[in-house]
Amino acid sequence: MIYILTGGPATGKGTRSDILAKALNIPHISTGDMLREKAQKDEELKASLSRGELVPDSMINALLEERITRKDCVNGFVLDGYPRTYAQAVELDRLFEKYGLSITKVMELVVPDELAFKRILERKKCDNCGEQYGIDFPPEVDDVCDKCGGHLSIRTDDTKETLAKRINTYRENAKEILDYYRDKGLLYTYDASHNPESVVEDALN
Ligand code: ADP
Repeated sequence: MIYILTGGPATGKGTRSDILAKALNIPHISTGDMLREKAQKDEELKASLSRGELVPDSMINALLEERITRKDCVNGFVLDGYPRTYAQAVELDRLFEKYGLSITKVMELVVPDELAFKRILERKKCDNCGEQYGIDFPPEVDDVCDKCGGHLSIRTDDTKETLAKRINTYRENAKEILDYYRDKGLLYTYDASHNPESVVEDALN
């Protein structure tokens, strides 16, 4: 069971990937989360993520290969944020051939731009436990995590300017990637405006 969730910024890839991974008891691999973790010790990477730029393929490809070959991936995984370029889609095929893996479904999430903007500008994450909050699931007390009481922060790349850039970067690359998977019969597209739990049924049907 290997699912790829794709879509522009704030289409809900993270939320849906989490729900799907928990339901299937497989890991949720988010390249964005992996890079943000690495950026805690890498100022240059931190600055580049804050500007909304894609990181070089050589860096992300190496991180991904190391991650998908760990033991916890034996029954599959949900991949969120990769591939983001055509070259990455080709690299993923190379890796899958090398390790005898195959994609179950590529799930494209689509939401109107206005909703993406609204979601992103209200999105916050707990500094302590990583719990996410947003317009559909606000915390009970402003800026305080319901789960652990930690402080909630916005991502440094969640600004209007950076978001516009990230949406454009997504659009520039998306067509080639989506065509690639459509030609292979692996692409399924979903309206991701509501009901994130539907991802489980969508994935299994
Ligand atoms: P979003 O989809 O909302 O932009 P992500 O958490 O998926 O958020 O990614 C955050 C940032 O991490 C991206 O804007 C980009 O800078 C970097 N990134 C994530 N995945 C990749 C990738 N596959 N290739 C290059 N850069 C990536």
